[in-house]
Amino acid sequence: MPTLVKTAPAPAPAAPKRGGADLPRLVGWQGFTVRVPNTWDLTGFSGANESGYLRVDDGNGEQGLEIKWATEPRKAKTPPDVTVRRDSYFSALRKTARKKRITLETKETDAPRAVLRPERGAAGFSWVGDRKAVGVVWHCTACRRTVIAQVLGDRSGKNGLSAVAAGVLGTLRCHPEDPEWRVWALYDLQTEVPSDYKLVGQQLMNVYLRLQFARGTSRLSVEQWALANIARHGDYLDEWLRGNTKGLMREARYVVDEGEAHGHAALLLSGGPALGVPMLHAAREALHLRRPATRFGAVAWHCEETNKIFSIQGFRTRRQEDPVEAMVGRTRCHEDRG
Ligand SMILES: [Zn+2]
Ligand SMILES: [Zn+2]
Repeated sequence: MPTLVKTAPAPAPAAPKRGGADLPRLVGWQGFTVRVPNTWDLTGFSGANESGYLRVDDGNGEQGLEIKWATEPRKAKTPPDVTVRRDSYFSALRKTARKKRITLETKETDAPRAVLRPERGAAGFSWVGDRKAVGVVWHCTACRRTVIAQVLGDRSGKNGLSAVAAGVLGTLRCHPEDPEWRVWALYDLQTEVPSDYKLVGQQLMNVYLRLQFARGTSRLSVEQWALANIARHGDYLDEWLRGNTKGLMREARYVVDEGEAHGHAALLLSGGPALGVPMLHAAREALHLRRPATRFGAVAWHCEETNKIFSIQGFRTRRQEDPVEAMVGRTRCHEDRG
């Protein structure tokens, strides 16, 4: 599983209190959203929409959250017994502990009150080995995900581990409130992408973040550069973007218009696939009787307040509505930060 470079967390003025812990930071990944302390961020992930793993922690190995999930098949008649899943999790833990010669104590508990929802069957647990964990196993009948989530900390339970665990687990959602849109939030990027697009690639660095998505032949890319005006050296945004983007516009020919995004001057790009390779790609799609994504649209802007450049780019089919503009509105710029 890739380990990521961590961004220095931005100070957040308004910190909502949940379960006694400060949880100002929103992380969104593969349909999950969770609020965590300001010093935590995404540090590891694997898998995809159907099943996967996610780690969000403080980068020092002191406290953090781990989530593992799997999606139950649609044809499954009865929801899985979460206490059975907890048992098998415990036996997996014991096996690892034996190998590492660590004494492990596991405890079955009621699920924390904060995680109870009508659509969830839930069972709680805690364990103490080389670290201490407070967690929960649940199955959600709305998204069919079975989730094991645990907050880890020092084995003494210091730094308010149980309060942090209750707070963080209480904010964890396994499916979005609006089924049409998924929040993707990490490293101070917060955007939303139509739920039927799947993540197909990412580049996650301190100063540059890129997420790529696909749905059939349609594709989307979201990019965010931090410290933008230093990097721009006075270049016009369109020149700068052409030189720096790794998004879809490299495969497009387009015209540039001027527009607005979050009150900033924005570039509006529209067109189609560039001649040559992308054109061939579209022709191949057409031969396979898949409707080719022949429409290109993009919006890019520089946010002076946060010193960032954003670019959202998409290829879509002729019949499909362009999601880019709605995504621009749902991408957090300088307003309501924190
Ligand atoms: Zn769910
Ligand atoms: Zn802005």
